[in-house]
Amino acid sequence: MNLTDPIFTDERKAREFLEETRWPKGPVCVHCGCVDKVYRLADGGKHRDGLLHCNNCDGSFTVTTGTVMESSHIPLNKWVIAYRLMASAKKGISAHQLHRTIGVSYKTAWFLCHRIRESMRDASGGPLGGSGKIVEADETYVGGKPRKGRPRMSRMDTKTPVAVLVERNGRARATPVSHPLAGVLKRNIAANIAPGTEMHTDEHKGYRGVAKITGGPHRTVKHYQGEYARDGVHINTVEAWNALLKRSIVGAFHHVSPEHLSRYCDEVSFRWDHRHVGDSERTIAAIKGGEGKRLTYRRTSAQSARA
Ligand SMILES: [Zn+2]
Repeated sequence: MNLTDPIFTDERKAREFLEETRWPKGPVCVHCGCVDKVYRLADGGKHRDGLLHCNNCDGSFTVTTGTVMESSHIPLNKWVIAYRLMASAKKGISAHQLHRTIGVSYKTAWFLCHRIRESMRDASGGPLGGSGKIVEADETYVGGKPRKGRPRMSRMDTKTPVAVLVERNGRARATPVSHPLAGVLKRNIAANIAPGTEMHTDEHKGYRGVAKITGGPHRTVKHYQGEYARDGVHINTVEAWNALLKRSIVGAFHHVSPEHLSRYCDEVSFRWDHRHVGDSERTIAAIKGGEGKRLTYRRTSAQSARA
């Protein structure tokens, strides 16, 4: 799937590609799960393009039903190219860049970006780590440049903290949180880390007592002594994730409002989790992630803080 593929320019080809991706063995009714009584209604005429009908439950659907693409009027080839660009851009792609690159309005590009980020959100929900595994935990601060002429405020007042967890050789999970961090960091670990995990952190007091939560070892890196990696005890991996988020924000996202920060974190974590596969496979993983998220694509800031 390189960028000259007709799925990026021809809506019919894009629909075929999305159907093969979602239903490799042929269409499955999204209402009742039936496979052998699903019929294709002729394109054109009185039907919407791509309409399928199930004679088992008498329901109709298309490949976008029950996905983040549902009810969108954006041509499917533009969805596919937007997925491809967002899945392959190492430092993210801004809505402005997408607007110029694929020829849609800025508003449409913004909408595409946010729905695709929702596709990228890891909905598996399972904890990171486990017995014999190492998870590095750290915090990073995003946003909040003081405006010209205003008194400088402290980092605490202007920036949103993000609690970041990265499994060594595994997945990443980042959650925007609020002050004070002391309880929040431990609650985040309790919610996201499997029992028995070996935790590596710096000496932030928010991590004191973490071993009691996970039931596994807790090793700390003493940055102030210039000690960065002792016997495999380090937080270099999580610091690399933090750097990716920072570069994405500087290079592509620009102004990140706190209520959208969790989406940018999801996007950076998605590319991180799929860093060992090629662009095509990563694009397909993003598209598949859009299934079943139709109603949840617009999370409120309150939900993000809980998630
Ligand atoms: Zn059905």
